[in-house]
Amino acid sequence: MDFALTDEERAVRDTVRSFIRREVMPLEAEVLRRERAHQPGLDHSELRELQLKARTFGFWGLATGEEYGGMNLPAVLQSLIWTELGHTFVPFRFGGEADNILFHATEEQKREFLIPTIEGERRSCFAITEPGAGSDAANIRLSARRDGDDWVLDGEKTFITGGHDADFAIVVAVTDREKGARNGGATAFLVDRAMGWRSEFIQTMGEGGPASLVFDGVRVPHRNILGEIGQGFTLGMEWIGKGRYTIPSHAIGIAERVLQMAIDYANTRETFGAKIGTNQAIQWMIADSETELEAARWLVLRSAWTVDAGLDPRHASSMGKLYGAGMVNRVVDRVLQIHGGMGYTRELPIERWYRQVRLYRIFEGTDEMQRLIISRDLLRGYTKIGGHLA
Ligand SMILES: Cc1cc2nc3c(=O)[nH]c(=O)nc-3n(C[C@H](O)[C@H](O)[C@H](O)COP(=O)(O)OP(=O)(O)OC[C@H]3O[C@@H](n4cnc5c(N)ncnc54)[C@H](O)[C@@H]3O)c2cc1C
Repeated sequence: MDFALTDEERAVRDTVRSFIRREVMPLEAEVLRRERAHQPGLDHSELRELQLKARTFGFWGLATGEEYGGMNLPAVLQSLIWTELGHTFVPFRFGGEADNILFHATEEQKREFLIPTIEGERRSCFAITEPGAGSDAANIRLSARRDGDDWVLDGEKTFITGGHDADFAIVVAVTDREKGARNGGATAFLVDRAMGWRSEFIQTMGEGGPASLVFDGVRVPHRNILGEIGQGFTLGMEWIGKGRYTIPSHAIGIAERVLQMAIDYANTRETFGAKIGTNQAIQWMIADSETELEAARWLVLRSAWTVDAGLDPRHASSMGKLYGAGMVNRVVDRVLQIHGGMGYTRELPIERWYRQVRLYRIFEGTDEMQRLIISRDLLRGYTKIGGHLA
């Protein structure tokens, strides 16, 4: 058994690390200042400029096929890169990406939606959640009714990331209520904002925020169906599946950064004439954080490895998402505690991470949904205890 990175993995990881340190981390003070003034940390043109700079180093389209100018990296490498991105709270990500399910587009749709999204000329959002259907996504109600060459969409989506800025939405709608969403009754549509949907920004405890999307008799041409009629729910689950290893990979990077801050603080802050790091109470918080961080790392890398090995990654990635999201919440909480009153202030970014990572236990499948998947797989005998080593 070999737990080491390959030379290629190490080289890619180190290049990303130095890019983040050199080009992205220096923006942190300004990002914090803007966010404190209720402005976006980075505006679209600044993000794009950074992405184009990264492109000159070859970092463009981590998950995008080479035929579209991307890197088509294996999941393990993508996971390692997401961990590097987690080292900073600057809302940077590499360019050249598109929603994974957009690659199911027809040639015409690729020209209209996929390629401009990869090139950063158009912005997408993905919408399945509704006010009455979150964890129970099969309960969606937004309907699409056929009318000649068009479909007419009526209903509301909510909590849609990027929904207020998107040029188009990938919307999962009910096309056959009798069948039900899970059994071929839902279809995905590519819906331009110009077709008439409107969005409303939702304030959250995090920076930035999702939006609700309102469809009131929005006409969408038949040619804008993504994939097949009836394939909407399957595509929705495919979209969500991607986040199950990128989110906890990001969480690992955040935990690494804040734990180092705690170690540095414990080695310098003095109370009662001694460094606080000499107290067992502080040492245990550091030890527990490092142990959980390491456990999360291997769960998540194993789930990414499962993707690369062509195995069904769902069970492993649910464990990685569940544990990684919980881990980063516990670590940030301890790090805040170690910093005492300073941890609670807005002079340091710890409270920002504290608010940010709370989301990780909710979106793209709550903790409870991950537990449901993990236990159901075992109870039905679909998965053996011990996974691929069983
Ligand atoms: C910031 C943000 C961004 C998001 N981005 C997107 C996006 O881009 N696109 C999109 O479509 N959606 C998005 N979502 C929606 C997100 O995926 C849902 O919020 C999430 O799936 C939970 O659904 P819900 O909020 O309706 O909670 P509910 O499903 O109502 O659940 C409420 C609580 O009950 C628990 N629960 C529910 N059912 C069970 C059960 N059977 N057993 C045990 N516990 C249960 C849940 O785990 C949760 O704790 C986003 C959400 C947020 C907050």
